[in-house]
Amino acid sequence: MSLSTALFRSGQAPRRRANDSDMRLFVANWKMHMTRRQASAYAEDFGERIGDGIPGAEIVIAPPFTAIDAARDPHGRWSLAGQNLSEHAAGPFTGEISGEMLADADCRYVIVGHSERRTLFGEDGPRLARKLARARERGLVPIYCLGETREQREAGSTDATLARQIETLAEDPAGEPLVIAYEPVWAIGTGLAATPRDAALAAARIVELLPKRRDLRVLYGGSVKPGNAAELLDGERVDGFLVGGASLDAGAFAAIARAG
Ligand code: PEP
Repeated sequence: MSLSTALFRSGQAPRRRANDSDMRLFVANWKMHMTRRQASAYAEDFGERIGDGIPGAEIVIAPPFTAIDAARDPHGRWSLAGQNLSEHAAGPFTGEISGEMLADADCRYVIVGHSERRTLFGEDGPRLARKLARARERGLVPIYCLGETREQREAGSTDATLARQIETLAEDPAGEPLVIAYEPVWAIGTGLAATPRDAALAAARIVELLPKRRDLRVLYGGSVKPGNAAELLDGERVDGFLVGGASLDAGAFAAIARAG
């Protein structure tokens, strides 16, 4: 029995291993929301709310592709992420966007394997592995999403699901920075967040499954709101959040980023 399997059963979460980066990371996933005009207004509002920035918090915004420019912060208080990228480097792939294009648009991160991509667009392990490789070729840091469905959770296979999804990282260079977003599918957009204990246990298990990673941050995602952010961060175990719905409100996202 693995350490975290035992801990899942005993109800105790181990303290998280120290990472190279001490900053907590807060990522806004705007999904298919925000025109350019709305993104500019958000950026101005959000900038006023965070002033010179939030100590100890690294902030990232993942706009739709057309609003990446409009969401940029001229003062560098947040960086940008793509919400997805093609598994191909370039070529006749109508409607796709490449890692090179995201890097050229100033993105530092890219979300890979969000559950909406997995379930609605059929993205699977091998394809996600190719996307990770394309991201690395362009120096983009992947925010690799994983998490169990309600059925998997009820069947007691959360642990096996996380382990399988982490196999997709087998070829990803262990020396490079990596962000994992643990997003239980049943918690995304439902208003039903994981408990702080379950989020901490999953984060601990993910760290345990990636023993060679030196620069790893594990985020939690799924119905994070200003009201539950502080308890979900739970001290040492969760390194930040990937936030969907609540990130569309500049005030709510600023409050969440301050919760650490
Ligand atoms: C997400 O889509 O990554 C997400 C966490 O959404 P929400 O915060 O709305 O649950």
